[in-house]
Amino acid sequence: NSPVVITIDGPSGSGKGTVAGLLAMRLQWLLLDSGALYRVLALAADKHKVPLDNEAALEVLAVGLDVQFILDEEGNQRIILENVDVTDAIRNETVGACASQIAALPAVRSGLLRRQQDFREAPGLIADGRDMGTVVFADAPLKVFLTASAEERARRRYLQLKDKGEAVTLTSLLEEIRARDERDTSRAIAPLKPADDAIILDSTTMTIEQVLERILSEVAVRS
Ligand code: C5P
Repeated sequence: NSPVVITIDGPSGSGKGTVAGLLAMRLQWLLLDSGALYRVLALAADKHKVPLDNEAALEVLAVGLDVQFILDEEGNQRIILENVDVTDAIRNETVGACASQIAALPAVRSGLLRRQQDFREAPGLIADGRDMGTVVFADAPLKVFLTASAEERARRRYLQLKDKGEAVTLTSLLEEIRARDERDTSRAIAPLKPADDAIILDSTTMTIEQVLERILSEVAVRS
């Protein structure tokens, strides 16, 4: 009997990362940020000079990826690639775009599959990404698909990046988000789409707390 999983899929900026982190903390469950794995792989490819279109070499890199997810004293997740803390380095738009590019390659996805499934441990797992409910944990008892309008997602991202002192414009972010949505939803393998049995939540006019309460009420109904 494998441990329970709640999957949270959706486009970037929908709030799924934040919601997944808070849920994991509330329930004291494990957390899988699968997007971070694709981002770390993109960073590793750059570091080891592996071209982003070399599928075979990327697969080798994916299978042997030396990455660790650890919790610091404050309970925040830190991501370590080959003994270097890359938690902040993976969060820029360039890495995101490269991650999205290599995520379209079948061998990369299969190379990361087992590693993702290995996160499933007692007492339970919150898995956030694009294909958690459709592919990686297709048997999950609770699947959430979290969306928001592209404009709202661009606005959230803009505020985040501005907060970090990065020079970005709302227009360019909206363009990037639309391009990434297009690539993620139209790719042949594991495209971004809700699982048939997913609960669809549109967070455009919801607060994080409201989304969280809604999911926790679904957890309560099921347990
Ligand atoms: O969620 P995040 O923006 O960190 O993910 C980066 C990229 O990784 C996404 O644009 C998507 O292309 C890819 N990804 C994926 N499958 C997942 C998680 C992320 O293809 N489960």
